[in-house]
Amino acid sequence: MKVESVRGMRDILPEEVPLWQKLEEEIRSLFALYGYKEIRPPLVELAELFSRSVGEATDIVHKEMYVFPDKKGQMLALRPEATASVVRAYIEHGLYAKGDLAKLYYIGPMFRYEKPQKGRQRQFHQYGVEALGSLDPALDAEVIDLAWHLMERVGLSREGLFLRLNSIGCREDRPAYRAALRAHFSGRKEELCPDCQRRLQENPLRILDCKEPQCQGAIAAAPKSLDFLCEKCRAHFEELLAILEDLGLSYELDPRLVRGIDYYTRTVFELCSRELGAQDALLGGGRYDDLVELLGGPPTPGVGFAGGMERLVLVLSQHGLSQDEASELDLFVIPIGEEGKRRAVGILAQLRRRGISADLDYMGRSLRKAMSVAARRARYALLLGPDELSQNSATLKNLVTGVSSTAPLAEFLSNPRSFLGSTGT
Ligand SMILES: [Zn+2]
Ligand SMILES: [Zn+2]
Repeated sequence: MKVESVRGMRDILPEEVPLWQKLEEEIRSLFALYGYKEIRPPLVELAELFSRSVGEATDIVHKEMYVFPDKKGQMLALRPEATASVVRAYIEHGLYAKGDLAKLYYIGPMFRYEKPQKGRQRQFHQYGVEALGSLDPALDAEVIDLAWHLMERVGLSREGLFLRLNSIGCREDRPAYRAALRAHFSGRKEELCPDCQRRLQENPLRILDCKEPQCQGAIAAAPKSLDFLCEKCRAHFEELLAILEDLGLSYELDPRLVRGIDYYTRTVFELCSRELGAQDALLGGGRYDDLVELLGGPPTPGVGFAGGMERLVLVLSQHGLSQDEASELDLFVIPIGEEGKRRAVGILAQLRRRGISADLDYMGRSLRKAMSVAARRARYALLLGPDELSQNSATLKNLVTGVSSTAPLAEFLSNPRSFLGSTGT
């Protein structure tokens, strides 16, 4: 019986991996530039962590989360997102006790039971940052600037991007806004999809996330969160807008933007590509000033974002970061005859210990076929034939220029770099 991969769980194949690695390197180095340190929470958490933070009424928890009991009957979940895990770790390890802003980032797989489509899998990958400990709107602006900088760094133009921005206020503002939404949508209940009829009872804010065409009319006419902000939230938002203007970062106010997660407060944003359309945010985030307290820690404001790796890989494979076209190997060793084969393994081991990336023809190919493999994979071929070995020498062929030279083997092995010239990679 042939065993296949699970639907929505995709292999990232060797030819795709270099782009992923390049992207991961860019992300790590840029996050470090802004003072973020990596944290690696586990993939499995108590299911309760997400139902309490992301929210019971969200699609993520209600429909998409992988939940299962372990052998003791504890309900566990494959993490559908990482902010809740980072905050749990922040509380559990007392990272707040250090009395400073904690700047943390992650990159890794997340799991959601969604309909698989291009660029969207059930195991998908996210990168994200979380800055915990300050309510300063300058920090919101820094996080947004970082998001923008990342997209520029991977080759997207500033003009090709746009920022959707909103403030959904604090917990003091929420009851009045929720009541206004409930009143509005109750009046148009017949128009709403069955999910939204449920959301109307559980959390009417979630109706604003609905993508069903039948709900869009009622959503477009819904009350705006900006009209329900208290003085503090209004001042916070206005200061953020002023800083964004100073930074030269444009934005489009989107009064319907709430993000599909319950823990957000005040600032919410999405950075979108004009090419992908507004439905396809490259990344999204916002403030979650109550989340640490909600999960049992001391009151601590926070702000962050998360973005999808798959989407970025998709964009980048179309343009942006170019694939490295240099050969993967410095050297390909081609033994000729029994003596050559016997010596090749030891020579290869010595070369690798000197930092030369090298491989050997293990397939017993003819010289002509081995040379064509070498030309595809390496910059140089090292030929070990009976003539060379009887004189303790080797023939080195530059596969780019076609020039061959013979050198004493001991000399070559003591300083192979000097024979290979500049690496050019
Ligand atoms: Zn407020
Ligand atoms: Zn709906």
